[in-house]
Formats: sequence, C-alpha cells, structure tokens
Amino acid sequence: MERLYIHAPFCLSGKCGYCAFYSIPWEREAELEWIAKIAEDIDRKRQLCGKLRSVYLGGGTPTALSAGCLERLFTHIRKSFNLSSGCEISIECNPETLNAEKAGILANFANRLSLGVQSFEKDVRMTLGRRASDEEIARAFELARGAGFENISCDLINSIPGQSLDGHVADIGKAVRAGAKHISSYSLTIEEGTRLAQTAMTTDEEDELMMWNADDKAMSGHGFSRYEVSNFAKKGFECVHNLEIWFGDRYLGLGPAACSFDGEKRWTEPANFAGWLRGAEPEYDIIPREKRAAEILAFGFRTTMAWTREKFEERSGLDMKGWDDVLSSLAEDGLIAYDGSSASSTPRGLLMWNSLAERIIEGSPRDG
Ligand code: SF4
Repeated sequence: MERLYIHAPFCLSGKCGYCAFYSIPWEREAELEWIAKIAEDIDRKRQLCGKLRSVYLGGGTPTALSAGCLERLFTHIRKSFNLSSGCEISIECNPETLNAEKAGILANFANRLSLGVQSFEKDVRMTLGRRASDEEIARAFELARGAGFENISCDLINSIPGQSLDGHVADIGKAVRAGAKHISSYSLTIEEGTRLAQTAMTTDEEDELMMWNADDKAMSGHGFSRYEVSNFAKKGFECVHNLEIWFGDRYLGLGPAACSFDGEKRWTEPANFAGWLRGAEPEYDIIPREKRAAEILAFGFRTTMAWTREKFEERSGLDMKGWDDVLSSLAEDGLIAYDGSSASSTPRGLLMWNSLAERIIEGSPRDG
C-alpha cells in the first residue's frame, strides 16, 4: 500500500446538523488514548506499506487535536514510514480550530490544507449547524497562506434550503479570492441519523441540477475544472490521494471508522471509540472479485481520468473486456467515451454517475 489515511475522530463540541461522519467531542484524556493507539497501530501495520505517495489526515476535525498531539503524530509518521519525495500530505481543518501555532506545525509536515467552510454566508452555515464565524474563516485562510500553504482546498456545500444560486456562485468567488486552488462542492444530502433528518428539511433535484450547471460555469470562469463528480481544481492542484483511491488504488486506514483496501479486501475499523481502543476486530467486506472489480471500474468513472485496459488489470486483476457490452452501451448513451481499450466519463457521465455505476455493477460478468 502506498497511501495512508488517519482518522482523527474529535470535533470541538456537538455535531453539525448534516454530519454522518464518525466523530466524538474532543477531550484531553481521549486525545491521549487516541494518539497512543495510533502510534501502536502504526508500529504494527507499517510493514503493509511501501514508500508512501500520499497521506491524508481526516476526521472528525484533525485540527481539534492539540498542538502537542499533532507534533507527536507527525514525528511518529515521519520516523515510521518512507515518504516519497513528492508525497502529497493533506490535512482537513475546521477554520475555528486553527491558530498560528497549529498552522506552523501543519505547514512543517503537510503540503495541502483542506478548509471546511461549507458557505461564506453566515445564515446558510447556521442552517447546517456550523460554528465558525466570518472572522474565523477569513483568519484561517490568512493563517494558512501565512504559514506557506500554496495548496489550499475549500469545502463548499450547495443546494441547501434557503441558499440562493447567486449566494453559492459568490461563495466560489470568495473561496478563490481567499487563496483556494481546489474546491469541493457537494450537494447537501440529508442522511439518516443526522439532526437535519429529524427536521422537515428536504433537498430539491431541480436546485441540484441548477447548482451543478452553475458550478461548471463559475469554476471554469476562475480557471478551475471539474475532475471528479464534486471536485474542482486549478491544473496541478487535484487531490492525488482521493483521485487514486477513486481509481482503485490500495490504502491503509488507521483510527476508528477508518477504511482500508489491499486490492482484494476492504475493511473498516470499529466506529466506536472504546471498541477501537480495545482492539476490536474490523469489519471485513469480502465479495467476489468480479463484483469488486466492477466497483473499482465504476468508481474510476467518478473522475475524468481514463481507464486503460492495462491500468484496470493492474488495479483489479481482471480484463476490462469482460465489461465490453456494458461499456459500449454506456458509450452509446453518451455517458462515457470508449474505444475498446480506454474509457473515461463524459460530463453527462459525471452528472449521472449513480445510474452509470448501477449499470456497470449489474452488467458485470458472473463470478467464475
Ligand atoms: S466538524 Fe465535520 S466531522 Fe465534526 S460534526 Fe461537523 S461535519 Fe461532522
């Protein structure tokens, strides 16, 4: 495995209304337990990894960790793994948790910072239950730039009830002017078990389509391209870690609720802090290899990168020819471009990725 993901499960307090990620409130004691277990897991599992080509610290809120804990984590990663010279190191950050000391520590280790803004409009953020103030968001961008981050990403959410199209387009401009070179623009989904799911709030498909088209227009006006269903970047600022994982690459995940993939099996660590600390077994997702290969093929089409037969065989162990019928039919419908040896999503394929993925999975050769 050449990619490492670490899940820091802590958030400052409470839960954002739409959040379905595994997270728990930050406490000093729990942070100490987390870092001790992560260090132990790194020592036990590092031999699963070769030279790392990307590291991603996600959460939760990694920047809810104390400065001392972040230092300890980075020192341990550096001494345990062989990091390639161009290794992309991304860290997710909530604006209200960043200060000058942490920005300096992050910049000493990482080369990519992803700021969870969601919207620059305070009322819209309040609908989502986000806590950061306008000043904290502006300061986080300043701190990130001042610490030397050139590769800054900004997470935005669209199709939020009460959010206007103009407001979302203005958000894109504000992110660019604040220094973002990468923007994620997710349509709000109201997931079961979240606080928003207990309200009468709903999302609207027409709004989503309008926002999708507005994203393409506004982002290209700022020199950004959509390179994945919900992700846009200036050339050279695509997130390599996520791009390669969507494209079926293998990765080791550490921390509660973290997923790993070794090319055949996927497994997920317990989404339960006490259970994870005790070393409870991960949950294994073992499926026939044709089905796994179909998933890999489908997820690659979330991106604009092209599948070649060689690449698909390297990532899945199977020949892409097995999906020839379904790929030809997707090409006839304009969802992908396919010439018999390479295939990539069209803009329509990205927009209709869910149905594209379903057709690939249903059209898979049977497990032999
Ligand atoms: S900060 Fe992120 S992980 Fe934490 S509750 Fe909000 S959305 Fe979830």
